[in-house]
Amino acid sequence: MGKIVVLATGGTIAGEAASAADAVGYQAAQRPVEALLAAASVLGDGRQVLEAQQLVQIDSKDMDMAVWQQLAQACADALARGDVRAVVITHGTDTLEETAYFLQRVLAAAPGGWQAQGKAVVLTAAMRPATARLSDGPQNLADALTLASDPAACGVLAVVAGKVFAARDISKIYPYRLDAFSAGDAGLLAWLEEGEVRWLRAAPPWPRTDSELWRRVQDTPADDWPWVELLSSHAGSSARALQALVQAGVDGLVLAGTGNATVHHQLEQAAVLAQQQGVPVWRSSRCLAGQVVPGGSSAIPLALQEGQPLSPVKARIALLLQLLLQAG
Ligand code: ASP
Repeated sequence: MGKIVVLATGGTIAGEAASAADAVGYQAAQRPVEALLAAASVLGDGRQVLEAQQLVQIDSKDMDMAVWQQLAQACADALARGDVRAVVITHGTDTLEETAYFLQRVLAAAPGGWQAQGKAVVLTAAMRPATARLSDGPQNLADALTLASDPAACGVLAVVAGKVFAARDISKIYPYRLDAFSAGDAGLLAWLEEGEVRWLRAAPPWPRTDSELWRRVQDTPADDWPWVELLSSHAGSSARALQALVQAGVDGLVLAGTGNATVHHQLEQAAVLAQQQGVPVWRSSRCLAGQVVPGGSSAIPLALQEGQPLSPVKARIALLLQLLLQAG
């Protein structure tokens, strides 16, 4: 069995509250990775060979590009080692889907050829702090270690509340309940039950990608990454917010449209003008489940990856990476 490297980044899974009854008024990102592993080992099978590193200690609502660069490098360093099978990342739930998608896209471009060996990155998190009477962190981390050891685990996956998700499909849809994530119509990849992985379908392989992306991500200082913003289309939308962003020098925009990625006509007009001024604008949908159906007459392109629509936050990352590749 190959080694598993655990990279801890903070989140509620490492959170602490003054009282075991408090599941809301806590401080995320307090406990070190050693404490998380000690709690999880009571539930896991204890057979995994682990190395652990506290990479950062943050609430994931504050995730930024510099941490993503650090995390991608740490994952790539670990996965390039012959004795390492997988990386497990402990993370906050708030931006877990963004980090997962970013890593899936960027690690696919990392050097070393380990992608062809089907190595995996498994993210996990918790909705209750470590001090809570019934904290979900230890079970989720034990499940992540089990999944990471499974030979069929490949690419970037996440496991929370016994559900296994592909990076492209996962979204946080509930702000409080333990079972906070959904894969929408794409569905789960597997269930984690009684320390066993029950696969429903194969984990998607690492995507083919331009290896230049890796160099750009690692060599471009985080402050110099393209500025890509997300704007929502809604009742009463106007051109003003979009125009202000263009005037302020935004490099790209994603519009979280209504329904089938439709955009308020005033916002759409402003977006077309922005495109004419050289600012790329993509469309996505505010709908939390289901797939946008390509078609329609909009002049704003749909955010797609390999023909599949992306959620607004993932579309923002996809546009960011595209602009990073095109820069310089
Ligand atoms: N704010 C926390 C975070 O994302 C929420 C969580 O982890 O559940 O770090």
